[in-house]
Amino acid sequence: MKIVEVAIKVPLNRTFDYLVPEALCTTICSGMRVEVNFANQKKIGIVLGVKDHSDFAIEKLKPITTLLDTTPVFQNDILNLLKFASQYYCFPLGETLQLALPTLLRQGKSPDKTSVVYLDLTRDGQAITTLRGAKQLALVKQLQASGKTPLTEIKALGFASATIKALLKQQLIHEFVEHDNCWQTAELTINKALKLNPEQAIACAAIKQNKGYQTYLLEGITGSGKTEVYLQALADVLAKGKQALVLVPEIGLTPQTVNRFRRRFPNTPIMLWHSALTDSERLQTWRYCEQGSCAIVIGTRSAIFTPFAQLGMIIVDEEHDSSFKQQDSLRYHARDLAVYRAHQAKIPLILGTATPALETLHKALNGKYQLLTLNQRAQTATNNQYCLIDMRGQQEQAGIAQASLAVIKQHLAKQKQVMIFLNRRGFSPTLICHECGWLSNCKRCSTSATYHKGIRSLICHHCGEHERPPMQCPDCGSTQIFPAGKGTEQVEDFLTEQFTDIPINRIDRDTTRRKGSLEEALEEINTPGARILIGTQMLAKGHHFPDVSLVVILDVDSGLYSFDFRATEHLAQLITQVSGRAGRSGEAGVVLLQTHFPEHPLLQDLINNGYQDFARFALTERQLTSFPPFSQLALIRAQAHDAKLVQAFLNDLIPKTPIAGIELLGPLPAPLEKIAGQYRYQLHLQAQNRSQLHQYLVQLVEYLNSSKLAAKVRWHIDVDPIDM
Ligand code: ADP
Ligand code: ZN
Ligand code: ZN
Repeated sequence: MKIVEVAIKVPLNRTFDYLVPEALCTTICSGMRVEVNFANQKKIGIVLGVKDHSDFAIEKLKPITTLLDTTPVFQNDILNLLKFASQYYCFPLGETLQLALPTLLRQGKSPDKTSVVYLDLTRDGQAITTLRGAKQLALVKQLQASGKTPLTEIKALGFASATIKALLKQQLIHEFVEHDNCWQTAELTINKALKLNPEQAIACAAIKQNKGYQTYLLEGITGSGKTEVYLQALADVLAKGKQALVLVPEIGLTPQTVNRFRRRFPNTPIMLWHSALTDSERLQTWRYCEQGSCAIVIGTRSAIFTPFAQLGMIIVDEEHDSSFKQQDSLRYHARDLAVYRAHQAKIPLILGTATPALETLHKALNGKYQLLTLNQRAQTATNNQYCLIDMRGQQEQAGIAQASLAVIKQHLAKQKQVMIFLNRRGFSPTLICHECGWLSNCKRCSTSATYHKGIRSLICHHCGEHERPPMQCPDCGSTQIFPAGKGTEQVEDFLTEQFTDIPINRIDRDTTRRKGSLEEALEEINTPGARILIGTQMLAKGHHFPDVSLVVILDVDSGLYSFDFRATEHLAQLITQVSGRAGRSGEAGVVLLQTHFPEHPLLQDLINNGYQDFARFALTERQLTSFPPFSQLALIRAQAHDAKLVQAFLNDLIPKTPIAGIELLGPLPAPLEKIAGQYRYQLHLQAQNRSQLHQYLVQLVEYLNSSKLAAKVRWHIDVDPIDM
């Protein structure tokens, strides 16, 4: 009799044993999906192992209902990765495995995904130099530059179906299906590479001479040519017939990145993995990788779970970016799992960024990772010039100081682009009553609802509640209600009045909600001439805006004084990243930082000595305060409608006698104490080292699974939390 151990998607930290019918005994193996009967429900499970004995009475075991696969959906390497993730992040294995599966497979389906739809130019299309439709011409040009391209990628670049259809109809392009091709046997085409500067050459050489596992921190200032290093390192990997995984924070925001890879390796299958793909498209990428038919996957966070036939390298671009950390269910950090995966696969991992996370920098400085530095901008001889605008006693309008406005005018007069950065969308973060001080607080959250003037709404950015702004104060009846504080919409209003003939693009979650609107804006920004860009941190991410010569950061101060121990690190990263948008070609850019604290040592260090220096100093400060990376942190968060219940639950977790090496702090209110009517508290768990932390967490999880109070609140554990 054969027995299988099956992981099922249930919130329990255990697996289940099932019997295998005689006929399936020779085919079944770990990593395959099975359908089983669990508590009178059909469930899809993953086989973890085949064995002869069970710790349960054989006569009580049920047989599996169906075996869904003939080959495993999870090979051993991915199974190990997922087991590690499940343990490390204290999340049930069954649920972890399901999360990593493409939706269609999770549903028990097994559609054939051995073909990909491509677009390419027809002979007529190849000859085209002008076309009436600008979009159509852009697509033709795209294909002229990059050759045949999967339809999914064309869509990711922002081309609309209508554009594609129009070109198909004119027979300028054609659509065709290709079955998994074996790119390894064809000769690798590499388009002209750039001549590396000495720093890039050293970095590339270090990576190329590597054999086996090594993590590199490629610390290169913005514009120093990190991507060129990736591309040349990749060329070597592809030449050996191996595959590569490139993780990026967000694909939708940086279609240009994908384009650079495509153009360098025109005949090599490159596929995408991100949330905007359909289930079917995602499964296709997964299958292609698994078979080795895809050479490079460019994907967001969850692409870390993609199976590869022969993975040869992992690259994590902008490794400091917080979008690599999943903020619900399995709270994993894709960068950290990449380290595990690279180590397991004995391959190099490149972590690239201008502003390394202090955790990463620490490991590079103490030799766990190899540090590679790029200090020269590839195309500009000079560095950006920083200038602090002292806001004390300054006149300001819509948050813009008079002094800043004067500089903005100068740059616009020189036909340059100006970028205004404010990390708050909407018109104003609250409305206030001039008579009695009433604030437009959200009724369900401990925060105010943001005023959106254009659509005349008060919207809570935390629970999504919408409301018409009142005409009169709900408390005192006064009509003297005014917006208080600034958002991007207000900045846009003001600058539109100031500069009537200058085109303005505002880029934030509100203006880019419609599909394709971000791409349209990015394209407009590529047209020469004076222009103002206003945006939130969406603008800070990786875009290449060659004509921006001035960046103005309106609200620096909110990050200077915060209770989150990472606030200054994040502020420094943001300032550096936003500033990196200026002066990307030709002359150096100017960066204005508006602040009430111009003498603040962080700002002084950052603008005088740069992020690299700041980060090394910040690390010594961390050491003094024993925060990560000098200790290990986990949070236990809990919420319920009844605040007392939440506190009682967390208080119950505090051990009566102290545990060596572990410190518990709390229960403390979460940064937002109430969201959507739920009260939220947390316990901070700090340990001197990782093994102590995990020893403790294992016991804790066991206790939680049996705790009666735990069943009454919603709780989770966040290991290595990035927001406190
Ligand atoms: P990063 O990713 O470090 O911000 P990029 O890779 O985007 O920098 O490079 C910035 C610009 O410099 C790009 O336009 C790129 O084509 C160019 N560049 C990179 N390396 C070189 C080089 N060795 N010679 C000339 N131009 C280069
Ligand atoms: Zn009032
Ligand atoms: Zn709310």
